Amino acid sequence: MKDETRIVTAGRDPESNHGIVNPPVYHASTVLFPTLETLRAAQGNDPREVVYGRNGTPTTFAIQDAFCALEGGDLAVACGSGKAAIVTALVAFLEAGDHILITDSSYQPTRTFTLGMLAKYGVEATFYDPTIGAGIAELIRPNTRVVYTESPGSITFEVQDLPAIARAAHDKGVMVINDNTWAGGYFFKPFEHGADIVLQAGTKYIVGHSDAMLGLVAAREPYCERLRKTFVALGSCLGPDDAYLGQRGIRTLAVRLDRHYANGMALAQWLESRPEVKRVLHPGLTSHPGHDLWKRDFTGASGLFGVLLHPVSEAQLGAMLDDLELFGMGWSWGGYESLLVPVDPVAVRTAVPWQEDGQLLRIHAGLEHADDLIAELEAAFGRLNAAA
Ligand SMILES: *Cc1c(COP(=O)(O)O)cnc(C)c1O
Repeated sequence: MKDETRIVTAGRDPESNHGIVNPPVYHASTVLFPTLETLRAAQGNDPREVVYGRNGTPTTFAIQDAFCALEGGDLAVACGSGKAAIVTALVAFLEAGDHILITDSSYQPTRTFTLGMLAKYGVEATFYDPTIGAGIAELIRPNTRVVYTESPGSITFEVQDLPAIARAAHDKGVMVINDNTWAGGYFFKPFEHGADIVLQAGTKYIVGHSDAMLGLVAAREPYCERLRKTFVALGSCLGPDDAYLGQRGIRTLAVRLDRHYANGMALAQWLESRPEVKRVLHPGLTSHPGHDLWKRDFTGASGLFGVLLHPVSEAQLGAMLDDLELFGMGWSWGGYESLLVPVDPVAVRTAVPWQEDGQLLRIHAGLEHADDLIAELEAAFGRLNAAA
């Protein structure tokens, strides 16, 4: 089955639910057992067992199953946010005395968690050049347990050679975790490229409407039991209504992402022709240093990319951004609406310092018509130039 079909089908069983298309929303803490024998037997070891609300209900199973079907994992857990998914994946496979290699382009809160909490519990981290490829082998130490990948990075958009990284890691018995939020699980299949654990901020494209937070982690054997045990131990469960919104959102993921792709490409190509723009950081452009890898491993691009402007004053930037109507200014992305925020990678890069001058903007191309988005950007550049 193709992705489009799988995500419409997976995690739904209308026959078990009066024929109703969507799974029911179970609000649950206590689960009752009719007899002493069934109470004693309910140990919660089976991921499908319903023993207590926090451990999972048919509502959370639905989104977990759909996510597994999309990413191709053997088991998934659903957490209260993308950040919680990251924490669950890291804590599951690291112990005091271990070492982790993390891409320098990783999501900033991943960096913060590693340098703060993981360090506090005795895990050492090294940040590596996202484009390192097979060269990762030289950074692997006897106590390295995990190579953490994220491709492309959500601020600087470097494409990683995941197959080369995974081969080098596996050669030395090291596992690979991938944050696949950017591709939404639709344009990139990390398990097929060597990842052992794949996670997403479902908050972004899976929910798709900027109205819920959730995180998903999928594992392949032999990592499923440890992931599931850690999920239960951490107690970071997903509320039923947000689980429902996640399973609802995933049904339309493919059509939405196809449009995000088309709109993102249209904006990126138009922006590349503008005199105000120094460089467009979109892997779908042939000018992007990671374009060939992207073409080899990805089947498309989501709506998120970067635009590096020539240096501008704060007043010019304000003139450009303050009167935007279609592009909202705010964090997160993956909803139906377009976003545009100024970003500064300097503070979040250590392995490969960010040395570009000029203002970096991050654009999320939403589902509006590309012509309207381009018209608005054209007007915004007019204001920027007038303020010079
Ligand atoms: C947003 C994001 C997360 C975290 O997701 P939340 O649901 O906001 O906690 C993780 N990884 C990436 C790449 C993200 O963009």
